[in-house]
Parts: sequence; C-alpha cells; structure tokens
Amino acid sequence: MRWLAALVACLMIAVPAAAQKRIALSFDDTPRHAGGFMDPDARAEMLIKALRKAKVKQAAFFVTVGNLGKPGTGDGATNIARYVVAGHVIANHSYSHKRLSGMSAEAYLADIDYADAWLKGWGGYRPWFRFPFLDEGGKDKAKRDALRDGLKARGLSNGYVTAEASDWNIEGLAADAKKAGKTIDMKALRDLYVESHVEAAEYYDALAVKVLGRSPAHVMLLHETDIAALFIGDLVKALRAKGWELVTADAAYADPIRLLHPDTPFAQGTLTEALAWEKGLPAPRWYERNDLKIANSLFARRVLGERAADAKAMAQ
Ligand SMILES: [Zn+2]
Repeated sequence: MRWLAALVACLMIAVPAAAQKRIALSFDDTPRHAGGFMDPDARAEMLIKALRKAKVKQAAFFVTVGNLGKPGTGDGATNIARYVVAGHVIANHSYSHKRLSGMSAEAYLADIDYADAWLKGWGGYRPWFRFPFLDEGGKDKAKRDALRDGLKARGLSNGYVTAEASDWNIEGLAADAKKAGKTIDMKALRDLYVESHVEAAEYYDALAVKVLGRSPAHVMLLHETDIAALFIGDLVKALRAKGWELVTADAAYADPIRLLHPDTPFAQGTLTEALAWEKGLPAPRWYERNDLKIANSLFARRVLGERAADAKAMAQ
C-alpha cells in the first residue's frame, strides 16, 4: 500500500492548505438587549447549543461591559460564563460603547481600561479590543494613531473584522415587525440572514485576494442576536457548502494581516475595506447589503411580502 501513501502525499502537496477559505465567527455587544423572539437568557442557551451542534469550537464574544445589569439584557455575567464554559472566548468591546470620533483619545482609552479591569479575571479572556461601530477615529489621524499606540501600550490588539453584512439591521427590522404584529416569513428571514452573510464572506474574500494575493483567515462580524441563536447553524452549513472552513477566533487573529495598519483618509469599517482603499482599489469596497436602503428593501419584500413598501423604499 506504499503507492497509496505516496498518492495521498502527492494530493496533499497539490492542494496547499492556503487555498482553503477560512473564517471565524464573532458576536458583538454581549450582553445585548432583547430582540423580538426570546429573552436574552434563552438566547444565550440556544446560541451555545447551535454552535455546539454546528461544531464551531470557538467563537469570540466581544463584551460591552456597561451593558451588564441593564434592564432587558438578561443575566449577562451568567451568560458570559456559559459561553466561556462552552469553549468560546471573550474580549473587550469597551465599557460604554461610544464612537471614538465623538470623544477624546484619553477618555476613550479610560473607558477601555474600565472594561478591561472587569474582563481580565475571566478564563477565556483574550487581549483584543473591538471598536464600537468599527469607528477607529474617522478622519482624525492623530486620534487614530493615539489609539493604535494606546492599545499597544496596554498589550491589546485590534479585534478587527474582515467581513460583515449588517446583521444588527436585519435583527432590528425583524423585532420591529414582530412588535407591529406583522406576519414574518421565518424561512425567508433565515434565508436572507444566511444568504447575506455567505455573500459577504465571498465578497470580502475576493477583495482580500485582490489586495493581498492570498485568502486570509477572516473574522465575521455578527452580534449577539435572536436571529443568530435561531439561524447560526444554517449559516455555518451554508458557509461550509461554499468551501469555507470554520476556524477558531484564535486561529483567525494569528493571521499576518493582524500586523497591517492601513493608512486611509477615513478610519472606520472592515480591515479588508481599509486595505483595499489604501491600495487604491476603486469604490465600492464593501458588500452592497450594508447599504441599509438595499437591505431594508430586501427585508420588506422577502420577509414581509410588502411589495408596496419595497417600491417606496427603492424610490427614496
Ligand atoms: Zn457594538
């Protein structure tokens, strides 16, 4: 059977590991306010079960520490403990979830420190900071650089994302529709969520390959939402069907792109977009369903069956 071993070795060389598309999942705003379908404690439990069933070994949960104890966020600390026990990791998403553009670098770093003091004692803690709203200072380069230096001095690295499809907006539209007593086509909601995120992964990977000449390990931006708890298994299945390997957040943040700090006229958004902008690739450099006009129109038509609303939205 030596020939068989040789053939297998040959095939392994012919298909280098780098050709594999890889992606990790990250969930922001934990403990997030309730959505339209379940309470936050049931949501955490459902999300953990769904990730386990989908064999997602390690996702990252970015904690907004100031959300703890807020009405409507459930038993945040207990749910964070559940995520950690399930093998997931937690990291810093600030204390008060403000835009860097709206405050001084000093005050912003103090807010990060306040959150980190709470987070550091946890098992599963990772020294990553995710900017709320992915706002890294906008056009203020001095502030952007002050944050880059400040994070480095603290031993924190940027918990950047490389792919997104504005899941928070789909969640918000679904919650509003539920509240308004509208009929929601749950299968259509699932399909819209899944399809948007698979398309986003494909879009940003193609963009990254154009910039880097290779496919990096991606980090998908999601939020701790009801639709994630309901449909994450479907999303993972659809990603795998498109050739994606689900990797841990640790593996994704070990990719060399973590060392890149692009210089663009405006610092906000995905790392992929910033790298493409720095390299001079033409706009748009982001997935089209992050345009809320397009996303809202799709939601109205496909999930609510509202053709009139669709036409109205398109005319705006
Ligand atoms: Zn956030």
